[in-house]
Amino acid sequence: MSTLKTLVLVILAISILVFIIFFGRIPALRHTPIGFINRLIVARIPHAILALDKRLTRGRLSSSLRRFGSYIVNDRHPTIVIFFLLLLSVSEYMYLPAAWPDLSPFHRIAGSISACLPYIFLYLAAAGDPGYITHANHAEHMKLYPYDFSIYLPGHECRTCRFLKPARSKHCSICKKCVSKMDHHCIFINKCVGYGNQHWFLLLLFTTAFLATYGAVLGFSIMTTKMKDRYPLWSAWPPSDLEWSQYLIIWSYGLQHSVGLGATTLLTAMLAPMVWGLLGYSLFLVYCGTTTNETGKWADWKFEMDDGYAFKRRMSPHRQKFTAIEPAFTRWPVETEQILTRSEDGRPPPEDAPLPGEGSWQRVWTLKDVVNMYDLGFMDNLRDVFIQDCHFDKGKGLPSMGRPRRHKSPKASL
Ligand SMILES: [Zn+2]
Ligand SMILES: [Zn+2]
Repeated sequence: MSTLKTLVLVILAISILVFIIFFGRIPALRHTPIGFINRLIVARIPHAILALDKRLTRGRLSSSLRRFGSYIVNDRHPTIVIFFLLLLSVSEYMYLPAAWPDLSPFHRIAGSISACLPYIFLYLAAAGDPGYITHANHAEHMKLYPYDFSIYLPGHECRTCRFLKPARSKHCSICKKCVSKMDHHCIFINKCVGYGNQHWFLLLLFTTAFLATYGAVLGFSIMTTKMKDRYPLWSAWPPSDLEWSQYLIIWSYGLQHSVGLGATTLLTAMLAPMVWGLLGYSLFLVYCGTTTNETGKWADWKFEMDDGYAFKRRMSPHRQKFTAIEPAFTRWPVETEQILTRSEDGRPPPEDAPLPGEGSWQRVWTLKDVVNMYDLGFMDNLRDVFIQDCHFDKGKGLPSMGRPRRHKSPKASL
C-alpha cells in the first residue's frame, strides 16, 4: 500500500506543480488561487531567498542564481522542449512494451500512430516560422489585418526592429523579433506561437491531449482485466461488495503488476485534463477572435472602463486612410467602425482634439459595448488560423461577414 500511496502522491504533486507553473500565468487564472500560488512560486519565494542571501552571503549566491534565472526566463533555450520530449519518450518507453501483448491489432496500429503524432506536430510547431516579421516581408504582414483603433493604433514603430508594427503583431523579447498575430511565447516549443504556426500548436495540443486520454483509458482497461483475472469479484466502479481497504489493495496489485504501465497510466490520467484545458482555452480564444496577448490589452481597457475613463466614437469604414502609416487595403473583410480612447480626467476628449473619428464621444462602461473587429465568427476565425494567407474576398460586404461582433472574451480572460 505504501508504494502505491507514494507513487500516487508523487505523480499528483508533479502534475499539480507543472499545471501551476505553466498555466498559472494565463490571464484567466490570474485572480484565482492557482495564479496566487504561481506568483508565490515564481516571484515571492525567489525574492525572499534573494533577500536572505543578501544578508548571509552579500548576494553572491543570488547573482549566480539571477544569471541562471535570466537564462531560463529571458533566453531562448531548449530546456523545456527536451523535458517535454523526455516525458513523452520515457512514458512511451515504460508504457508500450508493457501494454503491447494485451493490445488488439487495432489498438496496436492506432496506439502507434497516436504515439507518433505529437512528435510530428511538435517538430512542425517548433521548426516552422511563427510569423517573424523582417524588412523583406514587412509589407505582406501589414496587409494581414487592419488597425482596430482600440488595441492597435497605426504609427507605432518597433524600437528594436525599426519598422511600423503591423496590427496584431508584438515584439517578442525572447525571440528578439516582431511576430505577426503574436499569441504568446511558448516554452514548450521554444518559439512564439503566432500567425505562422498557431495551427501546428493547436494540433500539437490536440494530439497530446488525445494521446494522454487514449493511454489512460487503455492502461486502466488493461489493469482492470488483470485485476479481474486475479480477483473475479472486483469491479472498477462501483467497488461491489468489497471493503474500501480491499478495493484499494487490489488497485495496488494492479499498479504493481507492471509498475511502468501503472505509473504512466496514472500520469496520463492526471495530465490529460490539463492539456484538454489548455486546448479548450486556446480554442475559446479562437472563438472570441482574440489572442493571449490581446486578452491582456482588453483587460487593461476593462480597468479604464471600470474607472469611467474610456470613451468611443464612430469611425467610417470608408474613411480616407493615411497610407504612410497604415495599409490602404488588407485581406481582412471588415474595417473598424469605432475608435476607443482613454481620457486623463474622466471627461470626454475635447472636440478639437486631434483624434480620428466623427460625432460625439460616448463613455464606455463595459467591454460588451465595444466591437472586436478581429472576431468574424468561430468558423472564419478558425479558417484564419488554419489556412495560410486565407483571403476573405468572397465575404467582403456580405452581412454575415461584416456584422459587428460584441466583445465576448472578457469573462473568461480576466
Ligand atoms: Zn520588433
Ligand atoms: Zn518568442
